[in-house]
Formats: sequence, structure tokens, C-alpha cells
Amino acid sequence: MRMTRRELLVGAGAGALGVLLVSCTPEPRPTASPTATASPAPLPTTPVPAPAASMRSEWATDPFSRGAVSFTRIGVQPDARERLAEPIQERLFFAGEATDADAPGTLRGAIRSGESAAVRVRALAAEGERIAVIGAGLAGAAVAANLADAAVEVTVFEARDRVGGRTHSQRDDDWAVPIQLGGWLLPALAEGAQPQREEDGLPDVIDLSSALWRAPDGDIDAVVNAPLEKAIGAAVDLPTDISLAEALEKTGSDPEDPALSALLAYLTTTSGADADVLSAWFPPALPSAALRGVTGDFDEVIQEMLEGTQLTLASPVTRIAYDESGVSLRLGTGEATSFDRVVVTVPLGVLQSGRIEFAPALPFSHRGAINALGIGHIETIWLRYDEPFWETDATIWHTVGGDHLLRTWINLRPVTGESILVGLVGGDAAEEFAELDEQDALLAALTSLTPFLGAASE
Ligand SMILES: Cc1cc2nc3c(=O)[nH]c(=O)nc-3n(C[C@H](O)[C@H](O)[C@H](O)COP(=O)(O)OP(=O)(O)OC[C@H]3O[C@@H](n4cnc5c(N)ncnc54)[C@H](O)[C@@H]3O)c2cc1C
Repeated sequence: MRMTRRELLVGAGAGALGVLLVSCTPEPRPTASPTATASPAPLPTTPVPAPAASMRSEWATDPFSRGAVSFTRIGVQPDARERLAEPIQERLFFAGEATDADAPGTLRGAIRSGESAAVRVRALAAEGERIAVIGAGLAGAAVAANLADAAVEVTVFEARDRVGGRTHSQRDDDWAVPIQLGGWLLPALAEGAQPQREEDGLPDVIDLSSALWRAPDGDIDAVVNAPLEKAIGAAVDLPTDISLAEALEKTGSDPEDPALSALLAYLTTTSGADADVLSAWFPPALPSAALRGVTGDFDEVIQEMLEGTQLTLASPVTRIAYDESGVSLRLGTGEATSFDRVVVTVPLGVLQSGRIEFAPALPFSHRGAINALGIGHIETIWLRYDEPFWETDATIWHTVGGDHLLRTWINLRPVTGESILVGLVGGDAAEEFAELDEQDALLAALTSLTPFLGAASE
């Protein structure tokens, strides 16, 4: 088995210095990572100025995520997620956001799923067993952290040359905060409520609590979730499941109405799917009127969670052979290695793609669950300006009306002092955005910002 420099350091429990040394050592780059680009020359076709720098995600085409988040399709029961999480022959375990029935598609769900898998492994594993975890995202890190004191030997195989998976904090000295190309937003806390237990340890959580709903004729009142709640409430009594869009129509709402359409666009930035494919019986969490955001470095947190494990980066697993006596893994390099038990945390999109061969094939209930769940799309673009071209201090912007591709923006200026705008797009629009080349993606983002042009603030 090839040992990377990082594995040696992390395996030896090296701290920040080790991580620093490693970060100076280029790892092989097996994947098209989200890219950083200095902005091209000012774009004459939009009145919105070109940013000083921009960076965008490319999850749709990333071979190690194949989309952004799982969602529940029409007619699919949430127990599909529980079936996927079911251990096989007490040897093969599954975790990852798609396996968490309570908070799928979220940071919290990923952590919860890793914790649950670790509980299951601990209940069976004897002292000294060799446990492998496939994937060093939040779920894989949570498995490892929860096995840290279990007297077992944990090895983590990660396909990319970095940890974090669908969290990805890019550090750049020119930016006031790490650029978050994956998940980083959390629902706002209700008054007096405590943060969720899974949020413990998430770095630098900031409040993004003021929203702006901008229509062509002026700003409108915040669009509330009431029509969605009414539609979902009514759908429960129907004999069969229908789409959220259909449920809205049945209860007298028009999903094409500009205000409701802006709310639905916001929903796609967390669900990854449009209302016409989302289940009304088992809908995603509804949009949060206010948000919190993680402005710290996820990669550092995950490195910490993985301390004490053998971490092997740039090592995609291509085959998993299992029976009641153990599990054997084959890596992309052709090497094979055996373990007592294995926890698979790769994204649903990777499981659906068939890029990992299971021998024997997974039980029918697992294959059924993998095929039943949907893969949604979310993309993001971060723009940094030397001077703001907007005057509002609202932190969450929504575009009401028009046919802009990106209709949800986060304004980080009030909370960081730097003129940073973060565009979010989900569902079909995210797929469309992902297909654009750098120049066209930036153009689409700038055009989408036209409604927010205003006099520069101080
Ligand atoms: C753009 C975007 C925005 C999001 N926004 C939010 C948000 O605001 N709030 C929120 O709560 N959630 C959000 N999410 C969702 C959240 O990021 C995910 O639910 C969570 O990070 C998933 O963690 P995971 O460990 O389940 O999967 P992952 O993080 O994907 O980890 C799986 C790991 O497996 C690795 N892997 C894949 N194939 C192989 C292989 N063959 N061999 C070895 N390793 C492999 C991958 O490289 C990856 O590191 C967002 C996601 C995206 C993409």
C-alpha cells in the first residue's frame, strides 16, 4: 500500500506543524477540483462591474461526488435511507448524508450518519481489529473520531488529494475568509435555542440574519414558507405522493408566481432539486428565513477529527469484496488490502455511478435504496470586489421576477468587512450553470446581480 507523506504525519498524530509541512508537498491530483480564477477582463455586456477575483464550484462533474446532495424523489419512502445504512453481514457498513433520514443532504446529517455507523461498528468489533473507512468527508471523519478510543486500527482511504469531500474551504490570502465551495450554511437558531450537538467544533459560525427580497418595482416583504407548509399539509391526505409543485397548485398557489418562484429557487440551494421532482410527502427542510455560516476552515477540523488514523489520500477504492469473515478492498492503483470491517461513506452519486464494484453485488434492498433516491445539484460562485457596487447591508439577497440564473446571494460585507458576494444556485439551474465555461459562468453571475446595482456605500 502506498503511503503518502500526509498519511505518515497524520498516522503519527502530527499536529499543526505536520499539516503545514504536508500542505507544502504537492499531492497527486486525480480529480478536477473546483477552480480558482483571476477574473477575466471587464465584461462589457453587463453593467455590473467585474470582480477582482472569483472562484466557482464544479460538483456536477466531479467524479468523486457526482452531484451535490441526495433528495427524496416522489413516491420514495424515507426508509430507503435507513435501508442503505443497514450493515451487511456485520462487515460492511454505510454512512454519509444520504443515509441519514433526519437531516439528509446536510452537514449535520453527514456527521450524524458517521456517528451512527461508528456505534454499530463498536458494538461488533473486537480489540485490535482493522477497520477501513472509505471517504474523508464529514461522515468518514465522524466515523474515525468516534472510533478513536475503541482499541481498533482505523485506516481511511480518500480518493481526492484533500480531505473534506463536499465541504471544501479554499484558503487564499487575498480573501478575508476561506472560500467555501461546498456546504457551509446552517439554519438560524430560534430565539433561546441551543446549536445542534453536531455543530460542536464547527469553526467560526457567523450570523447572516437579514434578508432582502428585490423585485423589479422595489423591495417586497419577506416571502414566507406558509404556501409550502399548506401544500405539504394537504398532500399528506392524498392517496399517493405527488410533487411539491403539484401540491402547491392543488392548494391554490402558483409556483410560477415571482415571489413563490424566488422562494422555491432558494429552496433548491439546499435541496438541490426543483419543486417538480421533490416529494410532497417527504419534502426537504423548508428554507430558513435567516442563516448562519461557517467561516472557518473545514479541512482543518476534519484533519483534527482524523488524527490517530492512517489516512491515505489520492486512493480511490474501485472494488469491495466481502463475506462473513472480512472485507477486501482494491484501490485505483491495483493494490489490494484486507480489513475486518469497512465503512463506506462515498456520496450517493458515486454509488449510483457504479464506479465501485461490490462483490458479491449489494443486497437488493441496498441497490433499491441507491436507485430510489435522487441526486440534486448545487453550485456556488464567490466574487471578491475591491469596492462594493451595492449599498444594502442585508446579508441574504433574493431576486424576485426576471429570468436570472442565480437568484440567491449572500453578502458577506456586513460580517467580514470585505466586499464578498456568494452566489448560490440549485436544481436544473445549477446543472445549467455547471455546463458554462468560466467566462460565461461569470457573465451569468454578473447579469444575475443587476437587480442589486446601487450607489457604492462607504
Ligand atoms: C455546493 C454545496 C452546497 C452545500 N450547502 C450546504 C449547506 O449550506 N448546509 C448544509 O448543511 N449542507 C450543505 N451541503 C451538503 C453537505 O456539504 C454534505 O451533506 C456533506 O458535506 C456530505 O458529507 P459526506 O461525508 O456524507 O460526503 P462527502 O463529503 O462527499 O464525503 C465522501 C468522501 O468520499 C470520497 N470518495 C468518493 N469516491 C471515493 C472512492 N471511490 N474511494 C475513496 N473515496 C471516495 C470523496 O472524495 C469524499 O471525500 C452542500 C453541498 C454542496 C455540494
